Amino acid sequence: MKAAIFRSGRNAPGAFLRIEDLPRPRLEAGHALLRVLACGVCRTDLHIVEGDLPPVRPQLIPGHQIVGEVVEGATTELPLGTRVGVSWMGGVDGECWYCRHEMENLCDLPTFTGYTVDGGYAEYVLARADFTFPLPPGLDNVHVAPLLCAGIIGFRSLRVAGVEPGERVGLFGFGSSASLAITILQSWKCEVYVVTRGESHRKRAVSLGATWVGQEDEKPPVALDRAVTFAPSGKVVVSALASLRKGGVVAVNAIHLDQVPSFDYDKLLWGERQIRSVANMTRQDARDFLAVAETLQIRPQVKVFPLEEANQALLAVKEETEHGSAVIVP
Ligand SMILES: [Zn+2]
Ligand SMILES: [Zn+2]
Repeated sequence: MKAAIFRSGRNAPGAFLRIEDLPRPRLEAGHALLRVLACGVCRTDLHIVEGDLPPVRPQLIPGHQIVGEVVEGATTELPLGTRVGVSWMGGVDGECWYCRHEMENLCDLPTFTGYTVDGGYAEYVLARADFTFPLPPGLDNVHVAPLLCAGIIGFRSLRVAGVEPGERVGLFGFGSSASLAITILQSWKCEVYVVTRGESHRKRAVSLGATWVGQEDEKPPVALDRAVTFAPSGKVVVSALASLRKGGVVAVNAIHLDQVPSFDYDKLLWGERQIRSVANMTRQDARDFLAVAETLQIRPQVKVFPLEEANQALLAVKEETEHGSAVIVP
């Protein structure tokens, strides 16, 4: 099969991956072999190939927003040909303290798709059957792919921030995840305040119905109940914190963050304000979000790349040349 392969420490700038022929993965117990129909490109993939996340394997196929169909390993729950999604959480041990306390997203021995195991930048992928999700028929392959990480994590971020219907919510950074989250916030009748650099992102926030949109150094005109940060920048976390009312919460949606600048505790955190990180996702988050996405007909803007252009897809995410999400179709 054709696959885009990342080898740590051996890349020319911009040439993160090489397209090669590999044997198809062999079916293993408890797994399903999927023919990949589409695979979304996530910023985390960029963190992996640029070394922001430490390499865990010498050779890797990235990709963790996979839409595939079951071609081997079918079961009664997953008949042959079932269209399923696979996300970043590729498996958990089911035994650690976190798994036993309904916090599988924090599992001590997790499997991460496209990081600790091979992912979906390929014609076929092996996935743990209990970590695949049947996909709603109302969402087509390339448009459902970006929902499988950006969408689920954005949804989880709203949960971690504790957003209640009708609240004032800040979105700091307005990429793929935030542009999916805003639709959910609107369905909850929230006021949405967007702070983001980049004229095109601000325009998109306006077109998606944000209550107020400002530049990176601007402060929302009202105190916010909740804020979610999407930019991999510590400075943005402090800006979000500075926009909160007493008792407000910032949820930080970033697997990697540059240094958080020092800030004034008395002014910014005192008053029971909170900063929380958002780590991974649970299977329940995925199921709940996919149901919401189908009901609200959440449809991201996508740009499709063939597998041979996987490097260009990663560059599009890096340079934010596309307003929406990059999706690879093998
Ligand atoms: Zn566990
Ligand atoms: Zn992701």
